[in-house]
Amino acid sequence: NNGLICHFSQAPLQLGRMCYSSSSPTTKLFIDGKFVESNTSEWLDIHNPATNEVVGRVPKATQEEMLAAVDSCSRAFRSWSETSILSRQQIFLRYQQLIKDNIIAYLGTLLLADFLNPFLAHSSEVVEHACSITSLMLGETLPSITKDMDTYTYRLPIGVCAGIAPFNFPAMIPLWMFPVGLVCGNTYLMKPSERVPGCTMLLAKMLQDAGAPDGTLNIIHGQHAAVNFICDHPAIKAISFVGSNQAGEYIYERGSKNGKRVQSNMGAKNHGVVMPDANKENTINQLVGAAFGAAGQRCMALSTAIFVGESREWLPELVQRSKSLRVNSGDQPGADVGPLITPEAKARVESLIQSGVDEGAKLLLDGRNVKVKGYENGNFVGPTILAGVMPNMKCYKEEIFGPVLVVLEADSLDEAISLINRNPYGNGTAIFTTNGATARKYTHEVDVGQIGVNVPIPVPLPMFSFTGSRGSFRGDTNFYGKQGIQFYTQIKTITSQWKAEDATLTSPAVTMPT
Ligand code: NAD
Repeated sequence: NNGLICHFSQAPLQLGRMCYSSSSPTTKLFIDGKFVESNTSEWLDIHNPATNEVVGRVPKATQEEMLAAVDSCSRAFRSWSETSILSRQQIFLRYQQLIKDNIIAYLGTLLLADFLNPFLAHSSEVVEHACSITSLMLGETLPSITKDMDTYTYRLPIGVCAGIAPFNFPAMIPLWMFPVGLVCGNTYLMKPSERVPGCTMLLAKMLQDAGAPDGTLNIIHGQHAAVNFICDHPAIKAISFVGSNQAGEYIYERGSKNGKRVQSNMGAKNHGVVMPDANKENTINQLVGAAFGAAGQRCMALSTAIFVGESREWLPELVQRSKSLRVNSGDQPGADVGPLITPEAKARVESLIQSGVDEGAKLLLDGRNVKVKGYENGNFVGPTILAGVMPNMKCYKEEIFGPVLVVLEADSLDEAISLINRNPYGNGTAIFTTNGATARKYTHEVDVGQIGVNVPIPVPLPMFSFTGSRGSFRGDTNFYGKQGIQFYTQIKTITSQWKAEDATLTSPAVTMPT
C-alpha cells in the first residue's frame, strides 16, 4: 500500500510461492539461486500502513544463512567476473525488458500510483543504462609514452558488493544498487528494508529469469545484525547505502574502518525558493505536489519553501490548493496523500508539528487528526503547513519525512541562498523564477548537489549521477551514471614495451624507464 509496503497477498500466486512460504506470507531468503525459508527464530512483522494489519513477516537471517549468502557471492564471482561483457550486457537487456513487461502485473499491484511513475521513470532506466556497459567500462590508452612503450588501463570489477536499502522506494532504490554492481562483473548481496522486502524478491526472480547465474545476487533480511555483518565481512569490498543519517553515518564509519568503499545517500531538507517573478500557478501546483506527494516520504521532497519578497502573498492560495489533496489509502482511486510507514513515524511527525507551534510558527494548515473513512487505524497525517518558521526551530533543523511544508520568508535571493547554504543538508533544491540571470546566480551560488530550475524534484536521469552532497552524502563517488560505474570498478594500468630486436638492452638499466 502506498508504495511503502510490499506484501504478497495481492501478488501473482506463482511468484508468491517462489518467494514465500506456502502456509503463511513469509519472506524467504535468496541464497545461491534458491528462495529458501529461514531457520531463524526471530521474525519481524510487516504491516499495511493504511490499516496497521500484519500482512506478512520477514526473518532476521541467522549468522549461518548470512555466511552462506556471502560464500555464494564469493564462489560466483570467480566465473561471473570472467563472463564476457557482451554476455552480461545480454542478461541486462533481457532484464530491463522483463521489468517493463511485468511491472504492472507484479510490482504494479504492490505500488501505489504515485510511486509507480517514479518507479517506471527511474528504476527501469538505471537498468537500461546498465546495458551500455560495453561503453561505460572502456579503459584508456596512451600510445608511445616513450619509445616503444604504451600505457593502457582496464576497468575491472572489485569483488562482492552489498546494498542496504530504505523503505521508501522499495523497487527503485535496490535497482540503483545491484544492477550497476552486477553488470560491472561484481557479485551482490542485498539487504532490503525489513519493512518492504517484497519488491527486491520479485526483482531477484526476474533477474534469474533474465539469465543471471546462481550466486550472482543473494538476498538476506534483517536489521542491525545483518547491517553489521555486511560492514564487517572481509569478502565484501563495497557497500551502497540509502537511508537515514543515523544509519548512514554509522555504516560509512564501520564499513570504511574495515577497508571497504562506502557510498551513503542520506537524509535531506530540500528548499524551494519562490521568486516574485515566478509563474504563480505552476509554482504553487509544483510546490504542493513536491511537498505532499508520497506523503512527503521522499528524500527529494520539497519540504521547505522560502518565499522571497512579495511572493509571500501567495501563501493563502498555497493553503487552499493543499487542502484540495485527498488523503486516503494508496489503493483507493484518487488518493493523493497516503499513510506514513509506521505509527511511530506518524507520532514523530505530529510531535515535530507541535514543536513548531510551541516555538512560535503559524499553523496555516493542520493535518493532524485527519480521519480516513474505512482506514481509521492507518498512519495518516494530512497536508500541513507551518509558516513563519525560523532557522533555529526544531521543525526546520530536523528532517520531518512527512506531509509537512515549513515556510520561511526572505527579502532577497542572497538571503535565501545564505539560509540554504547554512543548512547542513545538500540533497536537492529548486528555484521558481522566470528570470534567467536569477536562475544562473542561484545554480552557481547554492551549495546543494541537485538543483531544479522550475523543476521541483530534480532527480537526475541515470546517464547522470544522483549527486546529493554535504550532510546528505558520505563517500566520494555517487550513485548510478558514470560515478556508479566508478564506484563498482577498479583500474589496472599496464605499461608495456615492445622493442625491435636490434634495440635490446646491452647492460642493466638501473633507472626508471622513461
Ligand atoms: P533507515 O535508515 O531507518 O533504514 C535504512 C536501512 O538501514 C534499512 O535497511 C535498515 O534496516 C537499516 N538501519 C536502520 N537503522 C539502522 C541503524 N541504526 N544501524 C544500522 N542500520 C540501520 O531509513 P528509512 O526510514 O528506511 O528511510 C528513510 C530515510 O532514508 C530518510 O532519512 C530519507 O531521507 C532517506 N533516503 C535518502 C535517499 C537519498 O537518496 N539520499 C533516498 C531515499 C531515502
